[in-house]
Amino acid sequence: MSFTLHGLAVSHGIAIGHAHLVSHATLEVEHYVLPGRFVGEEIARFDAAVAEVRAELDGLLAGGDPGAPAELTAFIDLHQMLLADPMLIGTTRELIRERRCNAEWALVQHMERLAEQFDQIEDEYLRERKADVVQVVERVLKVLMGHPGHPPRHTRGEQLIVVAHDLSPADTLQFKQLKIGGFVTDLGAATSHTAIVARSLAIPAVVGLHHARDLIREDDMLIVDGTRGVLIVDPDARVLEEYRLRKSALELERAKLKRLKKSRAATLDGTDIELTANIELTADMDQVKAAGAAGIGLFRTEFLFLNRDGMPSEEEQFAAYRSVAEAMDGRPVTIRSLDIGADKNLRGVERTEANPALGQRAIRYCLAEPQIFLTQLRAILRASHHGRVKLLVPMLAHAHEIEQTLALLAQAKEQLRGRGQPFDEGIEVGGMIEIPAAALALGVFLAKLDFLSIGTNDLIQYTLAIDRTDEAVAHLYDPLHPAVLRLIAHTIQAGKRAGLPVAVCGEMAGDPTLTRLLLGMGLRQFSMHPAQILEVKQQVLQSDCARLRRQVARMLNTDDPVRLRAQLGRLNAN
Ligand code: PEP
Ligand code: MG
Repeated sequence: MSFTLHGLAVSHGIAIGHAHLVSHATLEVEHYVLPGRFVGEEIARFDAAVAEVRAELDGLLAGGDPGAPAELTAFIDLHQMLLADPMLIGTTRELIRERRCNAEWALVQHMERLAEQFDQIEDEYLRERKADVVQVVERVLKVLMGHPGHPPRHTRGEQLIVVAHDLSPADTLQFKQLKIGGFVTDLGAATSHTAIVARSLAIPAVVGLHHARDLIREDDMLIVDGTRGVLIVDPDARVLEEYRLRKSALELERAKLKRLKKSRAATLDGTDIELTANIELTADMDQVKAAGAAGIGLFRTEFLFLNRDGMPSEEEQFAAYRSVAEAMDGRPVTIRSLDIGADKNLRGVERTEANPALGQRAIRYCLAEPQIFLTQLRAILRASHHGRVKLLVPMLAHAHEIEQTLALLAQAKEQLRGRGQPFDEGIEVGGMIEIPAAALALGVFLAKLDFLSIGTNDLIQYTLAIDRTDEAVAHLYDPLHPAVLRLIAHTIQAGKRAGLPVAVCGEMAGDPTLTRLLLGMGLRQFSMHPAQILEVKQQVLQSDCARLRRQVARMLNTDDPVRLRAQLGRLNAN
């Protein structure tokens, strides 16, 4: 039966494909559909992995300490029993055979179903046996992943649409390897980091759908309209055809935009506008090049720290920063220091704060953990020898935070001098303006820093007291709120008067419906996910700065949201 769900549009475009229901665990294994001829081979690979784990467990029993507690032997026996159980093994084989899933995917899917059944068991002892099933599955997965099969992806010529209750930014990051067509979630909001990663992947996504995970079944046909925030489940032939046409039209438009890649980003009156890219990983550089970005305006380095045990070493960080600096070949690369906390957490770090977005996040964390910060600063400094690297510091609000940051930077420089390692002595240091206090008391920023970058995602969150990850208040998250507009305009103008470059690197910079508004405020540097650069460039090419300045000045005096939206409509009209 066909039905439609409405949520928040977070990443534009249309995806048509089959539903794949996931939880966090399933994202860590590869997903692919096997051509029929490989099914037998895949079952044999699965059987071999099970046999290997049984042999491992036998080895544990045989080589065990004779004085080992009876519980340990009982526990290994139980795992052996599970490995022989047709419920676990037989059904997984069936999934491989019938659905043609790869072995890892089949096993995880089945484990999830079993886990749900265990959760419903009344008897506490039996209910807790779920942990044993998970452990056995993990052992088999480890062996399978050590002996991967051949992944012939998308053999049905269709895309997979991931359907989840919630996804963390770390989960979404893994989509970069999985090559999925789109995703939908029950929770989430438009400027959560999960949504930002989706946009950087240029895959259509709708979040805040409330009950999608419960209503959709595995393999259901889905249409994700990431522009309108609509999800259509099991569409009829007419709707499917209409969306296929719409999808082709969109792809054609995108292809046409590619022609703008090499054109100079300048307004009709000849003002040059810098359009740079936001990246999360070095792997994003292909997209950056395809979009013809003028540089990297925001490298969110914290993504190097997610999905792993332990921190990346100085060498590992240096290699990543250096590769980006070199790839940009003299164009600016703005590396942001670690912005961990709030919705981005290190593995194994249990967060206990009631309000993590207001807690020890970003520079607050770095100043509390100076060794981690110094390691990163040294890596960034060393990369500055290989390109035009700048350092950007997030979440600053206090003068003493700026002073401490600069003192630690001086210390990191001293350490490198001691080691004889080269770096750019004059590396520029910028501050993110993403807390209203910073925007209102810019004096110390202007006096001590070399540039500013407005993080509108957080500036909106903190100005309007709206958790940017909470779909329950997502309707109140408003980039056009007069208070937000005035803080942005004030920062741009104050920077201009002080002779300090000001960029916007939040999601507003990548929204083509806001390009003219920001140009009219005097903004000349925009940083956004590379997938948006050409659309924003198209707007720039059709804009006249002098005319926009007058119109936007009127908008900044408007408190009435309805009038403001009408004014924006006129601004974008021609
Ligand atoms: C912002 O807050 O606007 C920003 C660019 O940083 P992030 O989205 O990573 O918090
Ligand atoms: Mg931010």
